Amino acid sequence: MNILLTGGAGYIGSHTAVELIGAGHHVIIADNLSNSSPEAVRRIGELTGTAPAFYEIDVCDRAALDQVFAQEKPEAVIHLAGLKAVGESVREPLRYYRNNLDAALTLLEVMAAYDVKIFVFSSSATVYGEPGVSLFTEDMPRGVCSSPYGRSKQMIEQFLEDSSAADPSLSVVMLRYFNPVGAHESGRIGEDPDGIPNNLMPYISQVAVGRLPRLTIFGNDWPTPDGTCLRDYLHVVDLARGHLAAVEYAVGRTGCEAINLGTGQGRSVLEMVNAFSSASGVEIPYVFGPRRPGDIAAYWADPSRAAKLLHWHAELTLEDMCRDSWNWQKDNPHGYSEE
Ligand code: NAD
Ligand code: UDP
Repeated sequence: MNILLTGGAGYIGSHTAVELIGAGHHVIIADNLSNSSPEAVRRIGELTGTAPAFYEIDVCDRAALDQVFAQEKPEAVIHLAGLKAVGESVREPLRYYRNNLDAALTLLEVMAAYDVKIFVFSSSATVYGEPGVSLFTEDMPRGVCSSPYGRSKQMIEQFLEDSSAADPSLSVVMLRYFNPVGAHESGRIGEDPDGIPNNLMPYISQVAVGRLPRLTIFGNDWPTPDGTCLRDYLHVVDLARGHLAAVEYAVGRTGCEAINLGTGQGRSVLEMVNAFSSASGVEIPYVFGPRRPGDIAAYWADPSRAAKLLHWHAELTLEDMCRDSWNWQKDNPHGYSEE
């Protein structure tokens, strides 16, 4: 299939491109490189032996997107392009709404113009808000989100449900990711955050490689077994394979499905630190700090719908996640830049 992958130069997109190409699909990447490097696109080609078609465009640019559709004739769209830093979205809400909502709307309009029916969207567990339970299932309603980032995901889910109701020939899958970590086992592609990382795993990796002095763990007084928060961390390669399963599932059917992609298991921050130390052989210095505003004590995915509909489940272990994060970080201490 010809698949348009927006945000394909980014962390999840680059791994998804590798899995799609490996399964024989023709991948067309559209990315404005606002949070990624052309080197990631080059390495996708290096890893797969097949360079993806690459368009450095803003997905909000209707004319540019029209040209890509006219030239490449995609049969399906996997939409990952978006801004994703929660704290930044609180400081710059309009930039987040403009970019994330506009990109989704523009894509849906151009898809309609070119009669493309299959749409896979990168949503997030954040759409559940704080439901007061730890096991998140897709039939729970969307909750109250604490950030414009989260609200942009909720709004796009709503656009997709409304579009699907208006055009019953659409086939939409909204993938709600839990916490992707790790990197391709080759160590050639991985997560390359700009500046000081906000997320746990890249922070730990940068401490391990000596770029940051120590980790601050946000709270040790949570109502969890060791007092630190629990999250459902999943390997980015498993997540990428979830996209492959989703796009293949979407062929020949119609409707709009929300599907969790997670392991179904909650892990604490301390478990992650210890697992990373064992996998890398590097001690991770840490201190306990105050709770981070907006954090929730514990949540994880109910992954049964993904198993039932996509025949997908996470296969890679916590050890794989830590080993591959470390492998990427030590081979690329400054990410894709060479300094
Ligand atoms: P990323 O920043 O590495 O990738 C996003 C890519 O989109 C980047 O390459 C960026 O340059 C591109 N982009 C942004 N706006 C664009 C635009 N208007 N036009 C063209 N390209 C644009 O992030 P990621 O971690 O790979 O996340 C991919 C998607 O998954 C995002 O939509 C994100 O919100 C979602 N998501 C990520 C996580 C996570 O923990 N990483 C969790 C849940 C959902
Ligand atoms: N965390 C932490 N220190 C950090 C970054 C994160 O203790 O420097 C904790 C955070 O409080 C949360 C977990 O690690 O409990 C995962 O945080 P992340 O930002 O990676 O994901 P999210 O909270 O969005 O699920």
